[in-house]
Amino acid sequence: MSATDTRAGAATAAARPAVKPLDFLDLDALLTDEERLVRETVRQWVQERVMPGIDGWFERGEFPLEVARELAGMGLLGMHLTGYGSAGTNAVSYGLACLELEAGDAGFRSFVSVQGSLAMFPIWKFGSEEQKQEWLPKMAAGEVIGCFGLTEPDFGSDPAHMRTSARRDGSDWVLNGTKMWITNGGIADVAIVWARTDEGIRGFIVPTDSKGFSAKNIERKLSLRASVTSELILDDVRLPDGGVLPGVTGMRGPLSCLDEARFGIVWAAMGAARACYQCALDYSKSRVQFGKPIGSFQLTQEKLVNMLLELSKGSLLALHLGRMKDDGRLLSEQVSLGKLNNVREALRIAREARTILGANGITLEYPVIRHMNNLESVLTYEGTSEIHTLILGQAITGLQAFE
Ligand SMILES: Cc1cc2nc3c(=O)[nH]c(=O)nc-3n(C[C@H](O)[C@H](O)[C@H](O)COP(=O)(O)OP(=O)(O)OC[C@H]3O[C@@H](n4cnc5c(N)ncnc54)[C@H](O)[C@@H]3O)c2cc1C
Repeated sequence: MSATDTRAGAATAAARPAVKPLDFLDLDALLTDEERLVRETVRQWVQERVMPGIDGWFERGEFPLEVARELAGMGLLGMHLTGYGSAGTNAVSYGLACLELEAGDAGFRSFVSVQGSLAMFPIWKFGSEEQKQEWLPKMAAGEVIGCFGLTEPDFGSDPAHMRTSARRDGSDWVLNGTKMWITNGGIADVAIVWARTDEGIRGFIVPTDSKGFSAKNIERKLSLRASVTSELILDDVRLPDGGVLPGVTGMRGPLSCLDEARFGIVWAAMGAARACYQCALDYSKSRVQFGKPIGSFQLTQEKLVNMLLELSKGSLLALHLGRMKDDGRLLSEQVSLGKLNNVREALRIAREARTILGANGITLEYPVIRHMNNLESVLTYEGTSEIHTLILGQAITGLQAFE
């Protein structure tokens, strides 16, 4: 066989399937018909509803809530939960939806992650039957928007030391404190707020029209611009006893929600990476320098191939973790491995893609720098890359290096 002969194994020249640059390992063949349908439906929606407007929304720092509410019509809000109006899909379908949304823009994927995994999931997992009946159907339908308040101005990676407090006053709870960097905060109808109590950390369902609750949007972001990020202020917010999530006490509550959202990010990062790789690949074939397409230069090909390697490995990893989750055997440390690897590699792919676009790589005429900037947020939220490194370090050595 010569060095350029690309036959492999049983794929003879006659029966040889065509190489697919965007699905090189034919992962498509590993999906069920239902999973492919979810993927195609979301991909098409992104093409029709996100792509025409995203540059403008990003540039103006706007999140088009009315467009995002359409996601409810496709059953994407809380899609991996069962009952209470949720679609009840498997984890792989949820991952594929996150991937396709993020290939459009991380703002839409963040909206879906927060609504489903961070706001609906804690009610679904730890709420009373009454709370589930009251909130979940309206949230699945997009009539009620949720947010998740864990981070504070002084406590990000170390949320266990949060200051926000909830104290009993008769049968009521009274909440005080400030939450920071809260996605959907300014557009939310309900906030899941984590607060310290005499019994430990507890989760509260706080309607945002409660007296003493206010939200202030964070301006001047250069990342995730098509997404609302806010500060939440709780000033003697009074809730009835039915406002606390009865099913959990301690950091296990918020951390289990983060596991759900991080799982989606493992996939989503590959969506941003695919969009950057696709853009760089197309550009490399049409941009001519020195009389030839830049894709014909060895240095450019090496960049594209390195992107292909990481995109293929990261997508396989996401699918593997998805199958483990659907089997009920996925560990949170394994989710950390996926989040750490896939976001880090997606960011590398985005940066490499940007170089292939030259000066065009810094404009919003192409999606690459938008994804690259968005990924800086994705690298930080849901546990920074350093924190996931420490989680993995502890898992394999048995020694914790957080403090
Ligand atoms: C766009 C956006 C949206 C967000 N949405 C939400 C949301 O909806 N809800 C929510 O609750 N939060 C949200 N966050 C907050 C996010 O989860 C925090 O920013 C994140 O946990 C990091 O906290 P921090 O920014 O305070 O950084 P810090 O914790 O101050 O960390 C700063 C640096 O120090 C490093 N570091 C910290 N501790 C250690 C250690 N022990 N060892 C080594 N390095 C360490 C970190 O890795 C990081 O590099 C969002 C953030 C962004 C940017």
